[in-house]
Amino acid sequence: MAEFEPAVNPDDPGDIIKAETLVVGGGIAGMTTAIETAEVGKHVILLEKAPSIGGRVATSNQYFPKLCPPTCGIEINLKRMRVNPFIRVLTLATVDKVTGTPGNYEVTITLHPRYVNSRCTACGECEKVCEIERDNDFNYGLNKTKAIYLPHLMAYPQRYVVDPAFASDERMKKCVEACEYNAIDLDMQPRTITAKVGGIVWATGWKPYDATRIDNLGFGKYKNVVTNVIMERLAAQSGPTEGKITRPSDAAEIKKIGFVQCAGSRDENHLPYCSAVCCLASMKQATYVRERYPEAEIHLFYIDVRSPGRMEDFYVKQQGDDKFFFHRGKVGKITENPTNQNVILHAENTLTGEVTEMEVDMAVLATGMVPNTVDDPPPLDTPLDEYGFIAPDSQGVIGAGVANRPVDVAASVQDATGAALKALNMGARS
Ligand SMILES: Cc1cc2nc3c(=O)[nH]c(=O)nc-3n(C[C@H](O)[C@H](O)[C@H](O)COP(=O)(O)OP(=O)(O)OC[C@H]3O[C@@H](n4cnc5c(N)ncnc54)[C@H](O)[C@@H]3O)c2cc1C
Repeated sequence: MAEFEPAVNPDDPGDIIKAETLVVGGGIAGMTTAIETAEVGKHVILLEKAPSIGGRVATSNQYFPKLCPPTCGIEINLKRMRVNPFIRVLTLATVDKVTGTPGNYEVTITLHPRYVNSRCTACGECEKVCEIERDNDFNYGLNKTKAIYLPHLMAYPQRYVVDPAFASDERMKKCVEACEYNAIDLDMQPRTITAKVGGIVWATGWKPYDATRIDNLGFGKYKNVVTNVIMERLAAQSGPTEGKITRPSDAAEIKKIGFVQCAGSRDENHLPYCSAVCCLASMKQATYVRERYPEAEIHLFYIDVRSPGRMEDFYVKQQGDDKFFFHRGKVGKITENPTNQNVILHAENTLTGEVTEMEVDMAVLATGMVPNTVDDPPPLDTPLDEYGFIAPDSQGVIGAGVANRPVDVAASVQDATGAALKALNMGARS
């Protein structure tokens, strides 16, 4: 695959590109696979469908166990990527078709228009004059961005993007005029290119389980019921409330909060499996509450707490907080107190059968992770397990991170490193 050459024009990768490995999905798993491949001097294409790489980790406020902000981990990876000429990143890109066999794949890729070229300096002048607003998907629709926007503060590339729904809107012309670098081109069209690669790693990650499907838990019905992914954004400085965790109904401060574990998980009607990270994610989010509200009561309802391996230390540490109460109990129903919009958690102790009710200011549903491969399966009849994760015995396309199974960041990174080697082996054997 020595014919790989870095693109001379950053806006034009060429019609045919070659590399040892193609990695699909630019989350922490995909980034790691790409970096590990490139750092042994092999060429790699990292393909991401969103306007920026970073995946779900970029949406976190902090990540356990060290509680560092995502800027730490992602920035380190971005530094490694920026200096490495063996990595080519394609954003707003999707795979249409794959043919061939391990060692010799031909991949048809669509590059979707960004409507902003590499002359963009992310100065933000276009955004200031833009009159159109859209839901901010990075913040799960909790606030708005302009129709031309920077995906998020750590976005890579650091380049604006136009929401395609508004590219032909007459009002966008104001943005074009405001750009002194001539970086906005509303006539950009989709383009098809071909990649010739030896191995393919599929690292397309996850989406949160749709909590509106869990009728009994009131998400979408009661304002003060949120999900764990929303909680991450409420706690983040770059989020819709600039890091202030308040009740969605009236922006009141939190005095008593409930975390509802296994919301739809380990449940035959929703996700039968355990998502492995939710208990730790809730305990982590409890630290966000504690930081802002030293006197608040925190109540966590669980079937059983899962904190494998060294993560037990994190659990034990949280148990030391004398206002953090762990309750064995499956929350079967959430209702609302209409006088104050508090929510009432109706739980049943899974050992004794005792039924309890607790009124809290706000409830956080710990919903699980659904692999994106369910809606968008990998090519070449890659085998999936009964829940849609890539099966461990897949012989062609290699899975990494949550595309394989529900895992945390550390396990995603380990998985991704192994996938880098497997993909190179595949190419070498052909
Ligand atoms: C509430 C919550 C909190 C969490 N907190 C922590 C924590 O504190 N610490 C921790 O270790 N773990 C945490 N996790 C787990 C962590 O989010 C995952 O381990 C991590 O996101 C896995 O990374 P990934 O790259 O496999 O997937 P993702 O982060 O989902 O990245 C996948 C990427 O692939 C892209 N993609 C998807 N489909 C396609 C396609 N067809 N073509 C091209 N690109 C595509 C996506 O746009 C995305 O960029 C948490 C999980 C939850 C639910």
